[in-house]
Amino acid sequence: MARPGVHGRGVTNWRDTAADLLLGATCPGCGTPGWGICTGCRTALGTTAAFEVSRSLEGFPRASAARVYEGQLRRLIAAHKERHARDATSVLGALLAEAVAHRRPEGPLTLVPVPSSRSAVRERGYDSVQVLAVSAARRLSRDGRPVAVVPALRHVRRIADQASLDTAARWANLRGAMVARPLRGPVVVVDDVCTTGATLAEACRALTAVGAHDSDAATISATVLRRGRQTQRSAGPATAGPADL
Ligand SMILES: [Zn+2]
Repeated sequence: MARPGVHGRGVTNWRDTAADLLLGATCPGCGTPGWGICTGCRTALGTTAAFEVSRSLEGFPRASAARVYEGQLRRLIAAHKERHARDATSVLGALLAEAVAHRRPEGPLTLVPVPSSRSAVRERGYDSVQVLAVSAARRLSRDGRPVAVVPALRHVRRIADQASLDTAARWANLRGAMVARPLRGPVVVVDDVCTTGATLAEACRALTAVGAHDSDAATISATVLRRGRQTQRSAGPATAGPADL
């Protein structure tokens, strides 16, 4: 068993050192040895603020995102979705709550998670976005807002792999793919990432089709096109977005 100071680190780092030596535990955001999300990642995620997301896509709703889809956040979302990095749930849930509050600062709300495909849930063993929606709702409720999570959306047909599709093709692939059950009151569709916006547009279309007249969207992150170097990077395959967006 590793002891405090063996590697020149303080007592407070003993548990992280042991995790690294014995279990190979690392921060899911940056790979630093230790349990859970490291201080550096938490600090980096706290340095910016939520923002409004716009997309030139017919039917795209009013939407907010907590942070840009890049760096540690991108890796945390992937780890939560693909590798069950449950220690990321509270951090990502807090960011989603921030995006929801940016979109709808007050009043009661219903959060509707974007559904994962049945095959993805079967493969991963759980629905990552639904877990994060519940975490965000808990946080908002603690702040005194009546917030419920209702998984009111479901797919009615299989979706082709979206990874190689452009915006128009993604929208064509998704349009009419979801159905909703009727909900009353203000609704915010929630997801982990917004790339082209086709998923959020389809989710809100399905809700409007059953009578919802007040639906917005909020995501933990969104891709952003910027001038210069960042624009080139955003145009490349590294930021093409997850395959199921
Ligand atoms: Zn980290």
